[in-house]
Amino acid sequence: MKAFNYQRDIMIRDHLLGRGIRDQEVIKTMRDVPREAFVDERMREKAYGDHPLPIAEGQTISQPYIVAYMTEALELNHTDRVLEIGTGSGYAAAVLSRIVKMVYSVERLGGLAEAARQRLELLSYTNVVIHEGDGTLGWPEHAPYDAIVVTAGAPKVPQPLCEQLAIGGRLVIPVGRSYDLQELVRVRRVSEHDYRHEELCGVRFVPLIGAAGW
Ligand code: SAH
Repeated sequence: MKAFNYQRDIMIRDHLLGRGIRDQEVIKTMRDVPREAFVDERMREKAYGDHPLPIAEGQTISQPYIVAYMTEALELNHTDRVLEIGTGSGYAAAVLSRIVKMVYSVERLGGLAEAARQRLELLSYTNVVIHEGDGTLGWPEHAPYDAIVVTAGAPKVPQPLCEQLAIGGRLVIPVGRSYDLQELVRVRRVSEHDYRHEELCGVRFVPLIGAAGW
């Protein structure tokens, strides 16, 4: 897979390092995870392009830079337990799983959840569990989480996700009043009842659909 190694190097150099991604753990992981294995056969050649790509059921695999940016923004530690909302292809879950102890990922579309489950198993990512359901309600069973990442755009920050964040935990989520244009927000739980909000940058994600979403 020499051709992919070359494309991956360009992604790391131009799209990640070139745009200010500095977390060495994130850089190393994105060099290791074979992004081409998370897209359709006929999309493989485009897997390392500087853009999102379509996956099944009208959804997308995020642009590599955005995956790196969000992962960096989560300020992860090796011992962290992370909740991801929006498994999609499973690519971001795979990246997260190489940095932290355990990844819990929720996907509302059964077909995508099952395909991601099989893909991750085939590639031996053993510390990811996928649940089919409405991620706007989080996954209370395994809470609290040290970090939560939402990879679909929400109209507002879902309350259940704030509640399932550990004290000291970080939630990174695209939030916006428009269906396909959002602000990436980081919410930090500083104490039992105190949350700090920071706006990071403008982003464009598919909508988060559910009880506390659209
Ligand atoms: N992280 C993914 C990108 C996924 S795109 C990757 O690396 O490929 C966003 C995903 O969020 C879609 O698969 C969509 O079906 C899912 N989604 C939307 N609303 C959701 C909800 N309420 N709960 C769980 N998943 C949801």
